[in-house]
Amino acid sequence: MATAPATDWVPLLRPELPSPQTLLPWLERMHAARHYSNFGPLVQSLEQELAARLEVDAQQVTTVANATLGLELVLQALDLPAGSRVLVPAFTFVATATAILRAGHVPVLTDVDADHWMLTPELARQACAQAPIDAVLPVAAFGMPHDMAAWQRFEQESGLPVVIDAAAAFGSQRLNGARGTLVFSLHTTKSLPAGEGGLVVSTRPGLASRVRQLSNFGINLAPDSGLPVGALTMCGSNAKMSEYHAALGLASLQAWDRQAVQRQALMADCMSQLSHVSRNQLRWQVQGPGGALLAPTSLCVRLPDEAARAQLEQACQQARITTRRWYQPLLQHMPALQQRCHVLPTPNATALAQTLLGLPFFLGMAREQRLRVEEAVGSVFASQLAASGVACSA
Ligand SMILES: *Cc1c(COP(=O)(O)O)cnc(C)c1O
Repeated sequence: MATAPATDWVPLLRPELPSPQTLLPWLERMHAARHYSNFGPLVQSLEQELAARLEVDAQQVTTVANATLGLELVLQALDLPAGSRVLVPAFTFVATATAILRAGHVPVLTDVDADHWMLTPELARQACAQAPIDAVLPVAAFGMPHDMAAWQRFEQESGLPVVIDAAAAFGSQRLNGARGTLVFSLHTTKSLPAGEGGLVVSTRPGLASRVRQLSNFGINLAPDSGLPVGALTMCGSNAKMSEYHAALGLASLQAWDRQAVQRQALMADCMSQLSHVSRNQLRWQVQGPGGALLAPTSLCVRLPDEAARAQLEQACQQARITTRRWYQPLLQHMPALQQRCHVLPTPNATALAQTLLGLPFFLGMAREQRLRVEEAVGSVFASQLAASGVACSA
């Protein structure tokens, strides 16, 4: 009892980064090369390895400092007129919208599917009938992959560029032979952690290389471009991934396959236990048309109603369990975004934002921690059962 006080908070996440010993050989390589940034050997190795895993050419990928800047620079590289309207789901992390605004465009917020919580080509078609749209930025919600063949058809029919915010979806989202543009995050809390980092993947001719140039201020480094090497030919930013971060990414990759399988198993186990203690009252993100979530990094439960979510939040608070309302409030309710977005109806996203809660999820969760979460969830449904007679007669 003295060794494991039950009063320690259960964290929401516990990042799984490479140990110093695993990292050391990569740092030795970096130091021997005396190359610490600016597309050094480790960044090149990481890009090659990720391109191979994603089955695209190395010229179709480029690393960036993070996914947010990756999205911003992809939007810049698309060369849309200033003030273009970019369709985006209302239910996402704030960076999806800030990237659009910082690229000089207007987010147009729309709804998501009620079951897999994502924008679909069908929902995008409906949105395009309601408002003028110039580009579409769907999100791989919590890492759930999109059906890229379906988005490719949408791009062909509509003529609108589609960029997938696949920040949380490394290992789940692939192109599977379709054409498309994906932006992954290598942040500490995502599927392939490198501390900070991002990866842009695109089959659009020249897009990845334009993003690469934009990530290095916009300086032209291509001798075959017809423009002087060293000249600033685009106004970019500094969004390069350093060799230190590439070292972390490469070391993470060594453990990635094993950890992804473990996270998948842990997720299945948590879902089944929590379903059981809730008497099957919880709902989960359903697999989308793009296939299975192969590398989960977060656990979201959907409660039957807003009151049950409030009860679960309270039960967790009392039991010292950290929770998070992931992707909430919806973008249209964020003070900094409210006046700057165009908002279409979002009934499914609104319902999600009333009932969704993120619970602790990380490799190495102790049995005691898992039991504590199960007990908190169970307590909500035990008291609901007691109150259900009242609810039915009301
Ligand atoms: C994490 C996340 C981002 C931001 O990624 P960074 O690499 O931290 O910039 C953007 N969009 C979504 C959906 C995310 O989950």
